[in-house]
This record gives sequence, C-alpha cells and structure tokens, in this order.
Amino acid sequence: MIAPGATLGMLGGGQLGRFFVLAAKEFGYRVMVLDPDPYSPAGQLADVHLCAAYEDAAALARIARECAAISTEFENIPAFVLQQLEAQVPVRPASRCVHIVQDRLREKTFLTGKGFPVAAFAPVYSPSDLTAAAAKTGFPALLKRAAFGYDGKGQVRVTEAAALASAFAELGCAPCVLEQQVDLAMELSVVLARGAHGEMASYPVTENLHRNGILHRSIAPARIDAELADRAESMTREVAQAIDYEGVLAVEFFLERDGRLLINEIAPRPHNSGHYTVDACAASQFEQQLRVMCDLPLGSTRLLTPAVMVNLLGDLWVDGEPDWEAVFATSEARLHLYGKREPRPGRKMGHYTVLGETVRAAETAARAVYGALTHTP
Ligand code: AMP
Repeated sequence: MIAPGATLGMLGGGQLGRFFVLAAKEFGYRVMVLDPDPYSPAGQLADVHLCAAYEDAAALARIARECAAISTEFENIPAFVLQQLEAQVPVRPASRCVHIVQDRLREKTFLTGKGFPVAAFAPVYSPSDLTAAAAKTGFPALLKRAAFGYDGKGQVRVTEAAALASAFAELGCAPCVLEQQVDLAMELSVVLARGAHGEMASYPVTENLHRNGILHRSIAPARIDAELADRAESMTREVAQAIDYEGVLAVEFFLERDGRLLINEIAPRPHNSGHYTVDACAASQFEQQLRVMCDLPLGSTRLLTPAVMVNLLGDLWVDGEPDWEAVFATSEARLHLYGKREPRPGRKMGHYTVLGETVRAAETAARAVYGALTHTP
C-alpha cells in the first residue's frame, strides 16, 4: 500500500486531473501533474506542475523518480510513454489497456473479438475501402477518425454513397471507422473501479443526454428498469475483466429502440458522466482512481441521493462571466469551475450538480438553473 504523504503522478492536467488532485490532497498525498499547458486545470492545484510535453524525457525521468505510482486522465497520452514509465513505477491503467482504447478500430475489434455487441462497423484506410464499408453499415452512417476524436469531433454523418469520399477527405484521409448510425432510445454509461487483485465496484448506471455530440447532462440513477441496469453493469464488469483493467474506466452504451444494448466506447479513466459521484456518492470516481493507484481497498460507490449533472460549455461565456446567481440560489446545486482561461465554444469550462430527493426533483431543479443561466425557458 502506498501511504499518504507519498507523491503520485498524473499524466494530463485537465478537469479530470484536477478532481484527482483534490481527492488525493484530501487523503494527504502529494501530486505531480505533467501537462504542457502552463494554465492547466490540474497543474494549478498540484504540488508540482511539470509544464512539458508528454514525451519530454527529462520530465518523464523526474516523474518516474519522484512518484510512487502514476495514472492518466487523458487517453491520448502516447501509449509508449506509459510503457516506458511502467518499467520503473506502478502505472494504472496499464499501457496495454490504454493502447487498445486509444484507437476506435482496435477498440471495436477487441470488443467484437470478445463477443461484446457494438454497432456494425468497418475500417476505412483508403477511398477504395468506402463502398465495401458502407455495404456493412448501411446509411445513415458515421465516419469517425480512428484516433484522437472526442466530443463528436473528428466525425462526419454520411447519408448516401455519393457523400462518402468527401467525408473521408474532410477527415484528412486518416484511418477511419465507418459506423452504422444507431436508432437511439437512450445513451447510458457505467463507471467502474477495478483493483489490482480483480476486485470491482461500479456506480449506478447514468443516463446521458448529448447536444451536438457533447455531453449536456447526466442523470443518476438512469430512468431504466432493473433488468436493463443489471445488463449494463454486468457488461461493464465483463469488459473490465476481459481487458484485465486496473483503475477507473467508463463504458458508454447506446440503447437501441429495439432494446438492444451496444457498447459505444470505453474511456480508460474517470468520466464526465461520473462527475456527479463527487457530490452524490460515498466515494467519488476520483477517490477510486486514487485508491486503485495506491492499492487501498475500494471505496463505496453507494449513491446517497439522486443527482443531475449539467456541463457548462464555453458558449455560456459569450457576454463575459455568466451570472451564477441561479446556481448559488439553488440550495441543492453545487458549482464546479475548472479554472480554464479561454472559454471557447464547445469547451468544457465547468459543471454543476443538483441533488434531489427524487430524480424528478433533481432534474426539474437542474433544468430551471440551466434556463436561468442561458435565459431560455
Ligand atoms: P462518440 O465521440 O463516438 O462517443 O460520439 C459522440 C456522440 O455522437 C454520441 O454520444 C452519440 O450521441 C452520437 N453518436 C456517435 N456515434 C453514433 C452512432 N453510431 N449512432 C448514433 N449516434 C451516435
């Protein structure tokens, strides 16, 4: 067990890293964050911010020398960096797991190879692959870059064969996956922690509502029946076992209108849809990340109260700092801002969580706050 007082390394300094720093500091650990951005959300709060590129040899040597364990909050960390570090210090999750999910094709091939259901897909490496790929997926379909896509970026919706070539060109002719567009009834996710000895603890299934491909709000627990919740939780456990995962992961699901549950993607880290766990669960997803890193027993994932989390995107800052009065005036709402300096459209600047005695109460209050913030009914 790595005891409090030790220094822990975090690769990536975004908001996920920031919440990790807060959880680790509460337990009395020190944190060293590696992120090239001098104003990174986690770097601002860390004991040490190594402001350098993720491949920087001197920075990696220092983090390996001074940290008792290392984790990541950013799945696009080059897997070779993790691999290099894990030869010297415990790294959770392992480079092997991050490598699989960094690339949509590797991820889907892994999942289908293990028998997990995913939307029909086919790889596209060159324009000559497009017709055969579309024969597998049908239309409408989504052409997605295999690597470095997030929040709906790096993907184009295609409704007919004639539009395939231009979509591929729009994505820079990079390796892609063509994916059937699913007739969605709902989007769900499950966040789970798995320790080094195979022990697991999962949070309640969350219901996720997206706008323009970006998560808008998460509702916990999801408004689904117990049988479906069991299926999503079991599948998440099976995924974590199949990949022999150590750390916190999230599985994002598509629920089809016909009731089928498909895996959309796996995040090898705490997840935006698990932010409510900070305010509404016995132990947060970031505390679990810390516990797995330090070989502590897992904390309780018990939901203490229903909760709704709403993301705050940069668009809200068009006229300067938003008026937070509506959040502060709602006694069950908590504001979390990430300390980002540039509020660009679509950029996640913060979120708020609203607790309620029932999901309906939390949802009604969360929507009222959002209406007041955006001056919409
Ligand atoms: P992704 O980055 O692949 O998770 O996509 C972002 C969002 O786009 C998802 O959460 C869905 O709302 C939507 N989306 C992506 N792929 C599909 C699909 N195959 N069918 C339907 N909606 C999709």
